[in-house]
Amino acid sequence: MSQQASEETYQHYIGGEWTEGRGDETFESVDPSNQEVLGEFHRGTEEDVDAALAAAKEAEDEWADLSYIDRAEYLWDVYHELKDRTDELGEIVTKECGKEISEGKADVVEAAHMVEWAAGNARHPHGDVVPSEIGSKDAYMRRKPRGVIGCITPWNFPVAIPFWHMALALVEGNTVVWKPAEQTPWCGQIIAEMMVDAGIPEGVFNMVQGFGDAGNAIVEDDRVDTVLFTGSSEVGHKIAGKVGGEPGKLAACEMGGKNGIVVTENADLDIAVHSAVMSSFKTTGQRCVSSERLIVHEDVYDEFKERYVELAQSVSVGDPLDEDTFMGPMVNEEQVEKFGKYNDLAREEGANVLVDREELDADEIPEGHEDGYWVGPFVYEIDYDTDLRCLQEEVFGPHVALVKYSGDMDRAMEIHNDTPYGLAGAVISEDYRQVNQFRDEAELGLAYGNLPCIGAEVQLPFGGVKKSGNGYPSAREAIEAVTERTAWTVNN
Ligand code: NAD
Repeated sequence: MSQQASEETYQHYIGGEWTEGRGDETFESVDPSNQEVLGEFHRGTEEDVDAALAAAKEAEDEWADLSYIDRAEYLWDVYHELKDRTDELGEIVTKECGKEISEGKADVVEAAHMVEWAAGNARHPHGDVVPSEIGSKDAYMRRKPRGVIGCITPWNFPVAIPFWHMALALVEGNTVVWKPAEQTPWCGQIIAEMMVDAGIPEGVFNMVQGFGDAGNAIVEDDRVDTVLFTGSSEVGHKIAGKVGGEPGKLAACEMGGKNGIVVTENADLDIAVHSAVMSSFKTTGQRCVSSERLIVHEDVYDEFKERYVELAQSVSVGDPLDEDTFMGPMVNEEQVEKFGKYNDLAREEGANVLVDREELDADEIPEGHEDGYWVGPFVYEIDYDTDLRCLQEEVFGPHVALVKYSGDMDRAMEIHNDTPYGLAGAVISEDYRQVNQFRDEAELGLAYGNLPCIGAEVQLPFGGVKKSGNGYPSAREAIEAVTERTAWTVNN
């Protein structure tokens, strides 16, 4: 697919073939920085999902019979493509989802790392030798592929997250049916083309473009052994609820967060301000680990506030393809509306608004991008109360609350942990006891000390607890979601 809008209507990839599918509806991919149409795509139906699942089921045994090394060979080809085409693919990510170009490229780099990690795993398949209670017996635990894996992914990491899901699932011997996010079908198309170019056998990888109805068809089908989902808590909990009632089927859901940074009285404020600005405004606050709560000790509150607010007033939006741009647009109108709704809610709940750049001035918007989905930071201070929805619910935008606390770390932890989510958070402190208390008590899957609340390393599990995840983060732990264990005992 070229980098220009095309006359072609892009297809699904099912059972080794490109196909228009059964439906007659199409949808468009739109550049959020200017509403330029990037491409048109066939919209998948339940029948298309059915065909894809039939193909995946058919291919299951032959793929599982290959050695780990042989399966990984296909992924190594994809890895080299991702490495060789990082700049080009990074631009496509940026055009389609609006994130800054450095972030667009980072998305592709992270995908390459994940494929490298998963394919590298083929050299040390997981299993345990467990001594039997009886001397004459040998026992060990071996893993087998679960079968057909349904992957449903969000728009905000449109290359990295699909590979979190698919790379390990494929290397472990499963076949895959994947539905990309409806906002980023172009990235879906490129990934499918890479899989095809790598020569992955017919039926092993299938892609159905489309919306939530196609995702739901994957979730509800009995041929799916595991659903791997990353996206909002609202959708993830529905999926987990549906799948939970079906014996033998599993849903691994990675979901949203209401992430917080604790800035203690012993914080280095340079680090604190940098951490907060990067975490709350990069990618326009649209990443699962973005911080929407800054919990700051009263001793350093005024200075922190002054410095943070000054930066929030001055961060600029710009053409996301421009290397100097700090913040790109939001992904679509719906997200802009949600941001506005939560800003209003915060006002209703008693916020003292410090920065209100919800609607930017015309001269702040990059030339030629007047139709983009532009917003700036919305920052407020508010007295902590457990009943405030603005401190409890994920906005997924540059909407940030400053909460002042007094007292010790126990109080900071009480406020920090008072959300239904448990994805990511950070502590900024020069006192190692405070840092350790945060590490030990933060109800999180991802905790950072003296760092921006951003970042992932592929060998570490990436995922949340509480409402943010149900226990199968990416990387090593995800193996539990894509394999099943057999305890094998043999008498000698
Ligand atoms: P979303 O939940 O709206 O959509 C995610 C995917 O689910 C899309 O492909 C969508 O088409 C599909 N879907 C929608 N309804 C469905 C249904 N009923 N059944 C099956 N599939 C359905 O999320 P989004 O807007 O694409 O992404 C943003 C959200 O994702 C945020 O909440 C963010 O925090 C979260 N996220 C979490 C992580 C993580 O690792 N925890 C990473 C990135 C994003």
